[in-house]
Amino acid sequence: MDFKLGEKEEALRKEIRKFAQKELPPGSFTLLLEEESRDEDWKLAMSTSKKLAQKGWLVMAWPKEYGGSAVSYWEQMVYGEECGYWGIPGISMGISGVAWVGPSLMQFGNEEQRKKYLPLIASGEPDGVWCTGYSEPNAGSDFANIQTRAIRDGDEYVINGQKVWTSCAHRARWCWLAVRTDPNAPKKHRGISIFIVDMKSPGITVNPLLNYYGAHIFNEVFFDNVRVPVSNLVGEENKGWYHLMQSLASERHSFGPSLYGNARRLLEELINYTKETQHDGKPLCQNPEVRHMLADAAVEAEMLKLFNYQVTWELTQGITPIYGSSRNKAFGDQLLERLGIIGMKLMGAYSQVDPYSKWTKLHGIIQRLYLLFPGISIAAGTDEIEKNVIGQFKLGLPKSY
Ligand SMILES: Cc1cc2nc3c(=O)[nH]c(=O)nc-3n(C[C@H](O)[C@H](O)[C@H](O)COP(=O)(O)OP(=O)(O)OC[C@H]3O[C@@H](n4cnc5c(N)ncnc54)[C@H](O)[C@@H]3O)c2cc1C
Repeated sequence: MDFKLGEKEEALRKEIRKFAQKELPPGSFTLLLEEESRDEDWKLAMSTSKKLAQKGWLVMAWPKEYGGSAVSYWEQMVYGEECGYWGIPGISMGISGVAWVGPSLMQFGNEEQRKKYLPLIASGEPDGVWCTGYSEPNAGSDFANIQTRAIRDGDEYVINGQKVWTSCAHRARWCWLAVRTDPNAPKKHRGISIFIVDMKSPGITVNPLLNYYGAHIFNEVFFDNVRVPVSNLVGEENKGWYHLMQSLASERHSFGPSLYGNARRLLEELINYTKETQHDGKPLCQNPEVRHMLADAAVEAEMLKLFNYQVTWELTQGITPIYGSSRNKAFGDQLLERLGIIGMKLMGAYSQVDPYSKWTKLHGIIQRLYLLFPGISIAAGTDEIEKNVIGQFKLGLPKSY
């Protein structure tokens, strides 16, 4: 079977390669979410977003009327793969702008909201950067349990409560916020609504939550009588849950190709490392155990690529890939975690060196991967939740409790 892509897709792949080689500093390789922490990385991400926007790539999947190029699903897949391979920063406009705020506004926002916010995201400018406020101290996987409250007061809603783990809140201009608008709804998921909130609104406090290696990716965000115009309600009041289920499908699907791109690059870097590194006077790559670890990872990377092809094909057929998106996200997370572990084993003591030290190997990619990926397998739905989806939608099991 020949899975070769068409000329258009291969031409795009080459163009992205040229772009990455020209525009990124030598050794630069950004993993998901990393760009949000250090100021120098964020600066690079923002300047790259702008260049991607000028190339017409940033929102290439969007319809032309909203500033996109309406490219095929196959081109979108290649874009994701190549951005992952080159570790191109700034591809998402914060945690969510390109992948799910934009598509959600197209699906259930109103015309006024589309006209105002879509061009901002498509511009690649800092005013188009978003964070997503779903999780709370008592609501994560059990998202329907959210307590942050919005109460209507004339032409405004008044919001009070707390969000947590909000990636990019310290960089974002806007928050895509889920709140409770009806605390008496007969079922918890029926009283939720979505709002667009200006992060400069009075009453918002953003506190950094440094992760266990000191990176500032997520935050806790407090809302203290924050007033939001009624026009910022997205979709119907109390229908937020149903709207968000559509957004989550966009979110999960968007991960697969870039995870594969990351995996392909990391594998190449590790293979080269084993060719160039000697152990007992012999290259590491001659050690059978090393070869087997790399061979296992290569087979799994190839599987992820084919999984992505399958999901992309389903999209071309108008099928919503619920099972496939969850499978690809969970499988991709786990593959990247395994590559991090393999890298740590191969590097020995070098794996303990600070990723930004001059003594680090492979520009610190392996340490950063090892530290970041347990978090990626939690973000946007934990692997356990993805497996619940697989159980329900692929295996025909009843819903989990
Ligand atoms: C790097 C990172 C970035 C994030 N960014 C954001 C963001 O920008 N915005 C935002 O709103 N949130 C964000 N989050 C939060 C993330 O969405 C939640 O952490 C996630 O949904 C899990 O919720 P929880 O942490 O409350 O864990 P819980 O839901 O309490 O889960 C704890 C454990 O129990 C398991 N579990 C829970 N329910 C079930 C079940 N039904 N079946 C089987 N196992 C179950 C989970 O898999 C997990 O292992 C981010 C998290 C991380 C790590």
